[in-house]
Amino acid sequence: MAVRDGHLVFDGVDVADLARQVETPFFVYSAARIRWNVSALVNAFTRRHLDTELFYASKACSNLWFLDQIRRTGINVEVNSGGELWKALRVGFAPRQVLFNGVAKTVTEIRTAVDEGVRAIVVDSRFELERIAEVAREAGKPVRVSLRIDVDVPTLTHPGLMTTHGGKAGIDLDEAVDAFAFARSHAFLQPRGLHLHIGSQITTVEPYRRALQVGLDLIDQVEAGTGLRLDHIVAGGGFAVPYREAPACEPEDYFCSTLTPDDYAEAICGVLERRRPGLKLLLEPGRSIAATAALLIATVENTKVKGIRDPSGRRVDDERWLTVDAGFNTLLEHTNYRWYYRTMVASRADEPADTRFRMAGPLCDGGDVFAGDDETPYRLLPAATAPGDVVAFFDAGAYALEMMNPYNARPRAAAYAVDDAEVGLIRTPESFDDLVASDVRPGVGSGRRRPTGRRG
Ligand code: PLP
Repeated sequence: MAVRDGHLVFDGVDVADLARQVETPFFVYSAARIRWNVSALVNAFTRRHLDTELFYASKACSNLWFLDQIRRTGINVEVNSGGELWKALRVGFAPRQVLFNGVAKTVTEIRTAVDEGVRAIVVDSRFELERIAEVAREAGKPVRVSLRIDVDVPTLTHPGLMTTHGGKAGIDLDEAVDAFAFARSHAFLQPRGLHLHIGSQITTVEPYRRALQVGLDLIDQVEAGTGLRLDHIVAGGGFAVPYREAPACEPEDYFCSTLTPDDYAEAICGVLERRRPGLKLLLEPGRSIAATAALLIATVENTKVKGIRDPSGRRVDDERWLTVDAGFNTLLEHTNYRWYYRTMVASRADEPADTRFRMAGPLCDGGDVFAGDDETPYRLLPAATAPGDVVAFFDAGAYALEMMNPYNARPRAAAYAVDDAEVGLIRTPESFDDLVASDVRPGVGSGRRRPTGRRG
């Protein structure tokens, strides 16, 4: 990220200029940043525990170009549905590179995973274990499984991102030994590991230490009680991204993180090396690979001043509003989880960001208003910001492209990638025709017809 001639430059590309050549909003990804994020994690962990393998959590971004970039780095992939499995195989991951997760796998999804021969199916419940066993028996193919256990460790993240300690995922700790014993006794199940993902955007290392301790205690118990010998533990993903930059981070502010891959590696590998150095460590990072790899670029389309009134109706202050062409149709998490994405006016990158604005998306929905800086309702932006200016939302590469929706009949945005200073399209902008392609009028037919261009 740099500033040139007053414009924000992302991996060598002037994003304000790009926004004048192609339609906004759009995402722009950096191939170099993806590679850098992967190698930072690989180096941090393998330096401390050589037998570590990364499985990129494809739910963070499963665009085909993105997945292919991941594949080229040499790491593996974690999938959470039949669709993600299909995409991973389609870009050329070998089945043995795939971990198959999920909390509601269908028989069809399980059958595909068994037929393909994935590295392991991660099992979410005792019921599912029996379902997998049955599918494997019918297929005549034993299947490797890793049991996901709710290690009951609290975390200080957004409630929607907590997966243990009251969350929906995994087998209860008290049921775990029995589940492993059942797996051991079944001819078509090959129990290989224990899985303990504790959530996403985890901004302290202590929950990982505790989760590892609980997981390793359980492995000791399982091995002593059943005679099994497990070969891996999956410590999940969840490594945090510093969405908010603050001089001092409050631990409960989950947008703020000062942790590096080395910090997570030190905590996780420290416990593992002390207690079970021979165990393979599998990791499933998503956000920490994808988030910082992209910006979302939008254009300011509208501005106004509105009064702030006291309870008697007297106008006591003014607020300046800016409306941009990307809202929760493009960046769902901004309303879904009130997620904070740092912004910069890319077309005024050298002007002081010292003026308060409310910033909103384009949707006919009162909730489509962006969270402000430092927990205020306001964004600090250059005073002259006005319609026509280009706004960059930072760290928008994870859980964004995946979650776009066409609400208000707004076509989903395009995505571009920068690689070696070349910009290429990695996701076409939707057209008006795309908006109705799946609609069917009985007796008339479907909305599919020859594309007529972006605006229909
Ligand atoms: N693994 C599992 C099972 C998950 O549910 C998730 C997301 O919460 C991840 C990995 C990736 O987490 P993150 O993107 O925070 O690294």
